[in-house]
Amino acid sequence: MLPIIPKVNSEKILSDKLFNYTLEDVVNIKDDSIKKSGYKLTIDGDGVKVYASDDDGFYYGKMTVLNLLEMMGALPHCEIEDAPRYVYRGYMLDCARHFFSVETVKRMIDIMPRFKLNVFHWHLTEDQGWRIQIDKYPLLTEIGSYRDGTRGDGKPIKGYYTKEEMREVVAYAKERHIEVMPEFDIPGHTAAAIAAYPYLDCNNSVIGVKDSFGIHPEVLCAGKESSYEFVTDVLKEIFEIFPFNLIHLGGDEALRLHWLDCKECQRVMEENNLKDEDELQAHFMARIVEFCKGYGKTVINWNDGMVGENVHDDVIVHYWQGAEVNRNAAVREINRGKKGIISPFFSYYLDYPYGLTSLKKCFSCNPEIDGVTATENIMGVEGPLWAEYVKNQKDIDRQTFPRLIAIAERGWSEWHQDYKGFRTRLKYNYKIIDKLGIECDRIEKVDPNPIAKIISLVKFFGNAWDKTQLQNAKNVAENKKRLKAKYGK
Ligand SMILES: [Zn+2]
Repeated sequence: MLPIIPKVNSEKILSDKLFNYTLEDVVNIKDDSIKKSGYKLTIDGDGVKVYASDDDGFYYGKMTVLNLLEMMGALPHCEIEDAPRYVYRGYMLDCARHFFSVETVKRMIDIMPRFKLNVFHWHLTEDQGWRIQIDKYPLLTEIGSYRDGTRGDGKPIKGYYTKEEMREVVAYAKERHIEVMPEFDIPGHTAAAIAAYPYLDCNNSVIGVKDSFGIHPEVLCAGKESSYEFVTDVLKEIFEIFPFNLIHLGGDEALRLHWLDCKECQRVMEENNLKDEDELQAHFMARIVEFCKGYGKTVINWNDGMVGENVHDDVIVHYWQGAEVNRNAAVREINRGKKGIISPFFSYYLDYPYGLTSLKKCFSCNPEIDGVTATENIMGVEGPLWAEYVKNQKDIDRQTFPRLIAIAERGWSEWHQDYKGFRTRLKYNYKIIDKLGIECDRIEKVDPNPIAKIISLVKFFGNAWDKTQLQNAKNVAENKKRLKAKYGK
């Protein structure tokens, strides 16, 4: 078996012969019978030939040749037929909790196509930082891109991307057959925007950019017309930078605490016969979805933002899970016809320690999740790296690899359970990892034994827990209590 990751659909090794070809020897031959983004590769005495029907196919064929060269030093006499399982194969980097330079972002975009990933999901706005230059609202970056410290450490975190830099990243990604999808998270996770423009909150709360993590009570008011204006103004500028047809609008973890007491929010609910605040969120988002459609854009939401019965038909479900009610709603919506991107937090979240999410656990997650019968609606997979505790490139490398390679395989290859085979192939792939300068744990460490597991968990939760988490847990409990008092559920 050839040590190729992601696993190819079919391969034939025709002899033990190895050829000393280089990348320059690759000849592209157009063949319209080959599936979109797929390719056929033949290596023999006549040379190295890649057959494909489109540019993606030629590119992925070339990536396979490059990977074989780096792993084996020469090219085997073989025939490969290959095509992706899903159209969406993503990686998310949270550049809001911590800020990463354009160079660090580009470096990840350099690495992604080696494992045939094709969407870079750029998480750019958060409670803890606003990272996109927006001309109409200069305070978003003047105030929102800076925080005094993190959980009282007194070390400022600051930075944002200029429009020019973001355009540069988009072009750089395009050359590597990657689309850049920005995320502007609304209505929750907007404290940095509210710090800049307090009128965005129901109560005009005067707050600072958050220095603690978790779920905060300040969210965009879903009743005031000025919130709609703000969101659509910002989106207009975002659409000028990012040509990709998908836009991620978050939707997750939006507490109802301020909406419950807000005259404007309650007025909109009454006028539109909305039965609860879940439906208010869906109503607010549906207006934005319609706005985005006018620009040819389709909206993605995290699945816990899609619990109202009136969620717009065109929203794509980003399945991460959450509580049972959120999980069930996501499964229901995908079965009803919405498209789904799969990132189960227990298996695909890359910020977790290996003691919680080992490589094996990550690899073993079938993206055709339980309960989904309309599997044709699954459009792909994504590995998200949240950056509460990820501070630099070293942290990014250690958390991302080699787990992202397992997720890439799930996105590209048909479902197979051969973990032993994957591990064997991964050993060879460490040559690519080393060549790319990725500093990550070796294969012995990424499936920790029970003792190493406990040490890893104690370290992670010991670091994550502090008294600010207690306050956030109280916010969530209060939110639940208030909704129960109002609706009896
Ligand atoms: Zn409000």
